[in-house]
Amino acid sequence: MTEQRQDQQGHGHGGDGGHGMFDLPEGFRFIGPEAGAQPAWPLPEPPDPADIAACVACGLCLPHCPTYRLTGDESASPRGRIAAMRAVGEGRAEVDATFMEYMDLCLSCRACEDVCPSQVPFGRMMEHARTQIEPLRPARQRLLRWLGLEVALARGWMVTAATALLPLARPFLPRRTRALLPRVRLRELFDRLPEVTEPDHAFGGQPRGTVAVLAGCVQDRWYRPVNRATIRVLARNGWRVLVPRGQGCCGALAAHYGRLGAARALAKKNLAAFGAAGAEADWVVVNAAGCGAHMKEYGQLLGPAKEGDADAAAFAAGVRDFSEFLAEQGVEPPPAAPAGAGLGRVAVHDACHLLHAQRIREAPRAVLGRLPGVALCEVADGDRCCGAAGLYNVLEPAMADQLKAQKAAAIAATGASAVAVGNPGCAMQIAAGLAERGAQVEVLHPAELLDRAYREA
Ligand code: SF4
Ligand code: SF4
Repeated sequence: MTEQRQDQQGHGHGGDGGHGMFDLPEGFRFIGPEAGAQPAWPLPEPPDPADIAACVACGLCLPHCPTYRLTGDESASPRGRIAAMRAVGEGRAEVDATFMEYMDLCLSCRACEDVCPSQVPFGRMMEHARTQIEPLRPARQRLLRWLGLEVALARGWMVTAATALLPLARPFLPRRTRALLPRVRLRELFDRLPEVTEPDHAFGGQPRGTVAVLAGCVQDRWYRPVNRATIRVLARNGWRVLVPRGQGCCGALAAHYGRLGAARALAKKNLAAFGAAGAEADWVVVNAAGCGAHMKEYGQLLGPAKEGDADAAAFAAGVRDFSEFLAEQGVEPPPAAPAGAGLGRVAVHDACHLLHAQRIREAPRAVLGRLPGVALCEVADGDRCCGAAGLYNVLEPAMADQLKAQKAAAIAATGASAVAVGNPGCAMQIAAGLAERGAQVEVLHPAELLDRAYREA
């Protein structure tokens, strides 16, 4: 400890330490790490001390945190979680079972980040905090996470095979899991998306430009009709649409669960796949909010480009959410209302990774507002997470079920006959919640609503 530091901390001096500031009573010191304190992080890549230091503990984020609202527990709040990270970073606490419990209970919804006046990058901090807790998990859990997040998601054929086997496995799955899983038609599963789609002749035949679409892993196996609708809508709006071969999972799930090495490998795979298309494509369009939020952060994940590497930051700058893209570029008003019984009122669900991580709220409303004969309606407390949050609804069922029930009740209360949802995890969670209530509300992606309307013409 330097003399200057001793003076700043007021250890045993009780004087102003030569700085002319304060006299501190014996035994008091300014808040900060103990002199000589060593971080107690057990593994590389802990949260950045500068990120932790950015939090001024003002507490403005607390009312926006779903886990704090439901528990009233400071440790389950953003400020509490950051305090825990700070304690470990200053060597005052260890990464133990309690630390793991509160980090696991976080939804990574980033509602706290959205309202933080200090712009604390909470999502990034949580990803790094979770790198530290893996060794504490039981061996079986570590094996399952490794298999799912590092092995299967990196190999699209495994996701396809698992999806194909779902009808056989479904009767043996817990009732709760069964309720979450959508029913996938096998014929659809093996019918790949077209690699190139030319602009719709209805637009006049002249391409406005070229876009490359992320098909996604879960999105493409469980919600391929959404991908097809996305392609048709983009083509209908005059865009030439590419679905680059060789692309894969964006890596968001791996990153959220602290597997940053696997997330980087997946990001590089996509940079290579989209890089090949990049020479032709003006934009990369993503129709899953979680994937889009993560791909916009590829630059941060991979760091500055080394010589000969693709520039992740430049790639990320060209990523757009589906509704963001159409709102920016303009969307052709559909001539007719979307097909479907009673689609007069449509509720708009804000996925956390659209609203909080990408800060996109108006774009889906602007795009869906072009639908003739459709009145959009707001969901009460629409900024609150539905509890899907990647694998959260499987790993933290108690908290996820409370959030699911609240969200389903709020959507049902709108009286809408459909809810527009731009993220596959939210779609599964909300559909399950609505079914549990017996609410007759169709869950549709904004692309599906537009596609239905164009196809009516
Ligand atoms: S994360 Fe931001 S809003 Fe929350 S306590 Fe820290 S500084 Fe305040
Ligand atoms: S990410 Fe969401 S659940 Fe986690 S601390 Fe922030 S607001 Fe709370």
